[in-house]
Amino acid sequence: MPEKMKAIVKDGTTLSVQSVARPELRNPGDVIVQVMLAGLCRTDLYAAEGKLKTPDQLILGHEFAGVVADAETDEYKSGDFVCVNPLLSCGRCNHCHKGAHGACAQAQFVGVDRDGCFAGFIIVPAASIFKLPQDMGFLEAAYAEPVAASLAVLKTGITPGEKGVIFGANRFSQLLQQIMRVYGFDNIDLYDPIAQKGQLESSSYDYVIETAISSEIFAELVDTVKPGGKVILKSRNHEPLSFRMNEVIKKEPIFHVVNYGSFQESIDLLASGKLQIENLVDGVYPLEKYDTVFEDSKAKEALKPFFAPWD
Ligand SMILES: [Zn+2]
Ligand SMILES: [Zn+2]
Repeated sequence: MPEKMKAIVKDGTTLSVQSVARPELRNPGDVIVQVMLAGLCRTDLYAAEGKLKTPDQLILGHEFAGVVADAETDEYKSGDFVCVNPLLSCGRCNHCHKGAHGACAQAQFVGVDRDGCFAGFIIVPAASIFKLPQDMGFLEAAYAEPVAASLAVLKTGITPGEKGVIFGANRFSQLLQQIMRVYGFDNIDLYDPIAQKGQLESSSYDYVIETAISSEIFAELVDTVKPGGKVILKSRNHEPLSFRMNEVIKKEPIFHVVNYGSFQESIDLLASGKLQIENLVDGVYPLEKYDTVFEDSKAKEALKPFFAPWD
């Protein structure tokens, strides 16, 4: 009989905490990680609501840090403190070689395409694992994924001398602004497209970044950017967008759609102590509290809740 563990399991659009079989090593390179802290993000809400296509009986969650429990590789041994890039790609194909891991035909996202980290243990390939620097806490390490997602914005060639604005009043936009400041981007505003609607001047920014898009926000992004400026699209919206090409073409904007920056850079940045993660954290909860944690997160996105599945 395999050992059991607790997990938040999604079936249809119903969530529950279940006792399920602990993963077991199967293939060379497999690593089993005991999850110490796992953060909840919008992607998990989309998966829970059925807005993202997932298999049934899926364990949710993709942002986490933990301790290696067992490994079918010499690279890691039990007791290593690690975090994981949840976008698992083959690492061998043309796309992977060019760094376009999301385009890999075998790419799988943890907690969406395969079992995630809202569980006592998770199995992941060694190639997706990063060892934590000594004295790095699990909370900071569990933040590596959103920080890596933020770093993607810096791949667009924007420079600190340019004037930019981040659309969105959520914890991701605040994190992004903090990170950009560390990289010298001081000339950047935060704009709430709902509460401050219509308050930005037309054609006033060299680049505009969205963190939660809709057709309305898309139109405002295009309106706000200077002619020939950069529109940086970052969110993982599941609903179709519509826009008027005759409005967009007048500006000749450059669109950058970005996914992830470097995970190692993200870990190094978190280890540097230059980010204030604590004031973006809501609290740490046992898996059993999933109901209130998911509901609260749907209502507001100011702070990030974490699960401690080892509890
Ligand atoms: Zn996430
Ligand atoms: Zn690949």
